Amino acid sequence: MSTTPAAAALPAGLTVVSGPTAVGKGTVVARLRQEHPEVMVSVSATTRPPRPGEVEGVHYHFVAADEFDELAAAGGLLEWAVVHGRHRYGTPRAPVEAAVAAGRRVLLEIDLQGARQVRDSWPHAQFVFLAPPTWEELVRRLVGRGTETEEERARRLDTARQELASVSEFDSVVVNHEVEQAVGDLVALLGRGNMARPDERPGPVTTTREGLT
Ligand code: 5GP
Repeated sequence: MSTTPAAAALPAGLTVVSGPTAVGKGTVVARLRQEHPEVMVSVSATTRPPRPGEVEGVHYHFVAADEFDELAAAGGLLEWAVVHGRHRYGTPRAPVEAAVAAGRRVLLEIDLQGARQVRDSWPHAQFVFLAPPTWEELVRRLVGRGTETEEERARRLDTARQELASVSEFDSVVVNHEVEQAVGDLVALLGRGNMARPDERPGPVTTTREGLT
């Protein structure tokens, strides 16, 4: 792992990445983490049980439901939401605030509900939507990974439809054609820093070759 000169120059601040199920958020963020260790990628708390290969404190903090509720009630979460109608996910507040205060660039990979909450409390954050090249490709990726039951897939696609309709709420759109290109586009946005003022935002900018279809 090495830090490129461009990466070292990344300004401090908060960037939020959201996008529909199976668009490849996990893969893109994992690659970015590997190539840009100077970016602090927030580790969420969740009540979902770990999947094979997931490591406590790396992929998530896996907590019991009552532990999650206590954390939320104590104001320890920057945002939290029930995702896909099932488990709770939230961003621990303290590490994010400490990293931003220390001048680091911080990335949150969270769902649309969480992004909206962050927008309320951190309006100067930068909001990036990771989109699939097409709806058909999204369905293909979801079916292809084979980790969900048919019922769960239907639920996720339902949520995905609503999330895709929210794209105009974001500052930028990165279309995930393939992982290297998407990481490159995301790093370019991280390098831009936070938006000047919410009311000066130009509206969503598609940063990759083709727009959303
Ligand atoms: P998965 O269970 O597949 O790891 O994640 C499901 C969804 O939860 C993803 O869409 C991801 O963006 C979202 N998610 C992960 N962490 C958080 C979080 O801290 N807050 C919110 N609101 N959503 C999260």
